[in-house]
Amino acid sequence: VSLPELLFGALGGHARRTALVDGVTGRSLSYGELAAGVDRVAAGLAARGVGRGDVVGILSPNTPDYAVVFHGVLRAGATATTINALYTAEEIATQLADSGARLLFAASPLLDRATAAAGAAGVSEIVVIADGADGADGADGGAADAGDAAAGHLSLADLLDTDAPAPDVRLDPARDVAVLPYSSGTTGHAKGVLLTHRNLVANIVQCQSVIQLTERSRVLAVLPFFHIYGMQVTMNHALHNRATVVTLPRFDLAEFLRVIAEHRTDQVYVAPPVVVALAKHPAVDDHDLSALGTLFSGAAPLDAQLAAAVRARLGCRVRQGYGMTELSPVSHAIPGDRDDIPPGTVGLLLPNMTARIVDPDTGADVGPGVPGELLLRGPNVMAGYLNDREATGATLDGEGFLRTGDVAVVDGQGCFRIVDRVKELIKYKGYQVPPAELEALLLTHPGVADAAVVGVLDAGEEVPKAFVVRQPAAADLTGEEVMAFVAARVAPHKKVRLVEFVDRIPRSASGKILRRELRAAEGAAPA
Ligand code: ATP
Ligand code: MG
Repeated sequence: VSLPELLFGALGGHARRTALVDGVTGRSLSYGELAAGVDRVAAGLAARGVGRGDVVGILSPNTPDYAVVFHGVLRAGATATTINALYTAEEIATQLADSGARLLFAASPLLDRATAAAGAAGVSEIVVIADGADGADGADGGAADAGDAAAGHLSLADLLDTDAPAPDVRLDPARDVAVLPYSSGTTGHAKGVLLTHRNLVANIVQCQSVIQLTERSRVLAVLPFFHIYGMQVTMNHALHNRATVVTLPRFDLAEFLRVIAEHRTDQVYVAPPVVVALAKHPAVDDHDLSALGTLFSGAAPLDAQLAAAVRARLGCRVRQGYGMTELSPVSHAIPGDRDDIPPGTVGLLLPNMTARIVDPDTGADVGPGVPGELLLRGPNVMAGYLNDREATGATLDGEGFLRTGDVAVVDGQGCFRIVDRVKELIKYKGYQVPPAELEALLLTHPGVADAAVVGVLDAGEEVPKAFVVRQPAAADLTGEEVMAFVAARVAPHKKVRLVEFVDRIPRSASGKILRRELRAAEGAAPA
């Protein structure tokens, strides 16, 4: 089936249930309203000649309308390319041009950037998603007025104002590309990832075995929908289970805590920086978080001690998953009902997947307990990278295995642990030092608010260097103390040998440490 068929094919008695709630304005959409909106977006797009084979851009923070537009594009048979809402006009233009988008949906507060980018990329039509309830005008009057005046701008309300039936599109789920998200660009330039309807549907079904949601579940969607994790796990998997999705447009700790308390969300998906805040920030004690049942962390490494600290403080389950854009995105997770799987691991392989762990140099399989590069095969593995045969060929092998670029270890019970990216391992005097392990250790120091580790050249050899953000109450923490703390807890070759205190650690919108930015600032050799 196609994704719209899976999600909206048979609403049955669920039409009146609440599908989405805007955590800021309180506006909500029932499943019936969502499905009707999706049909009208599809009809409006079809009336403009947009359908199968066309690419449509979406630039918006998380709101209920995001889901209407996203699924409307897919329902029309077109491909949605979802764009990072923090991108500059140039970055938006790059993605629009690379993906070959012919129309762009843009939230009204982002209209200035959207208009500039669409102009630069030759995209002739913008559909403006109003900020708030109904009507075409956004909160940002200037941008909305400029938009209304420019040729080729149309409001979402106008697009939805149609009596035409949704088009009757016949899709080939195994071939038609449903979405074209871009990888996070952590290691280089972001790559367009071709995900078919079958890829997305397969992963939603695979997730059913590890994430148990019901129609009474209330899911907090603060992870951005433009990134595959927010798109598939918080939005699509939850909608498939007829849960209620509460949207937040951006992460702000106070807002996040308020929404958990007020909307009583019990399933909350985050990336590790939010887990750090939940473990360490004093403001957490000011809110009633008793509704929180399960906290899911993915996208970057989650340390076992950190998971335990949050569990102890909030009394909720903490579950880690692993995935990548190329996997639609989940391949591993700790099942919700398995309290016996060690935190700090990414749990078990999802159904219908095959994993290999190989020596990255020889390609030979290594045994349990031995780290190597993780290779994965399954129905959720991407069709390829857009316009990049070389990268596709280097990533997908002849047998359909995807080279993840990550180092993993599996134990005798089939439980996986991610060590780090192959390319991020620091080579110190012939030893391999995973920076993620040192970062997790640094975070256990009470004076450390945040940390990142990279390999830098010191007198001609690569050594681990820590960038540390001090806790406000630990302004006198010294580099010597930090190094001694690490040295007392690791083998000698893993010692941190340089420390620099900084105000913040650079992170991508999906919560990953941008180690290459730290390396570049250092003028050091890239990994
Ligand atoms: P790019 O490929 O453009 O450099 P990216 O790999 O960061 O960016 P994503 O697809 O968003 O883009 O992220 C996938 C990567 O995130 C994985 O390859 C892995 O390195 C990391 N990752 C995801 N989940 C986890 C996890 N639970 N533990 C450790 N690393 C994780
Ligand atoms: Mg990647």
